[in-house]
Amino acid sequence: TSTMANSKFEDAKKFERENFLTPNTWIVVRIDGKNFSRFCDSHQFVKPNDVRALNLMNEAAKTVLEEFKEIILAFGQSDEYSFVFGKETELYNRRESKLVSYVNSLFTSAYVFNWSQYFQNVPLKYPPSFDARAVIYPSNEDLRKYLSWRQADVHINNLYNTCFWNLVLHKNMTCSEAQIRLKGSLSSDKNELLFKEFGINYNKEPLMFRKGTTLIKKLLPDGDGKTKLSVLQIHDDIIGDKFWNENPELLAK
Ligand code: ATP
Ligand code: ATP
Ligand code: MG
Ligand code: MG
Ligand code: MG
Ligand code: MG
Repeated sequence: TSTMANSKFEDAKKFERENFLTPNTWIVVRIDGKNFSRFCDSHQFVKPNDVRALNLMNEAAKTVLEEFKEIILAFGQSDEYSFVFGKETELYNRRESKLVSYVNSLFTSAYVFNWSQYFQNVPLKYPPSFDARAVIYPSNEDLRKYLSWRQADVHINNLYNTCFWNLVLHKNMTCSEAQIRLKGSLSSDKNELLFKEFGINYNKEPLMFRKGTTLIKKLLPDGDGKTKLSVLQIHDDIIGDKFWNENPELLAK
């Protein structure tokens, strides 16, 4: 019988290893698109910011938040998304491989599932994939530092990319000419370049481009006079205290 066959071979199981994440620490699972530089080119992403692609990332992330009630917050930018599990979660006994692989495969399949809704006339040419990792953050301060790091990254990249693509698209520079033009430039130089050469006030660029997307869960009216835990999409600063003071439940406990 199959039971006998199984007991004969189940020794193979002993080669597996445990991978429990440290108890009582924040768990962050971050996914990032594999070679999205190529994926963007193949699918005619608008440079530097394709709104369809950002909205599709946000949609896929919402699917993940709705599936896992233990995720309290997510932060996304470019081709990456970070998912924060509550400190005390016991989901899958905190097994890293379960958490990382479920989040990544659900995100990826939701991205593909919703593709045609966002890219109506751009057929998907090949199946995109994402890498994923889990990192634990022991204290609230560590977690905030992590999220600040990711949001600061949005700013640095977006300021650079906005300059770069304006030089390429509107000053007819080659990619390497634009790169050389921007080499060693400070933030203030880039702001000035955008304003003087292109009449762009960087601070008026869309918030989603400058601050990324934060998703949290809130009890909101559902239309039938009841309340429902819904995913709220925010494009604002999460580095300073204001966001955390306005949403004290996030770090409570
Ligand atoms: P890797 O596999 O190492 O992650 P990668 O090519 O994906 O390689 P990233 O550092 O992740 O490298 O960069 C993602 C690239 O995709 C960047 O060039 C970024 O500008 C581009 N990109 C991601 N999202 C968008 C978007 N919505 N609009 C335009 N470009 C985007
Ligand atoms: P878990 O999330 O723990 O994996 P599960 O329900 O997926 O839960 P499995 O032990 O993986 O549990 O079992 C998979 C189930 O799917 C079994 O009931 C199996 O019979 C069924 N299944 C998988 N593939 C097929 C198939 N091709 N045809 C019919 N049933 C299938
Ligand atoms: Mg990378
Ligand atoms: Mg990538
Ligand atoms: Mg990336
Ligand atoms: Mg199964």
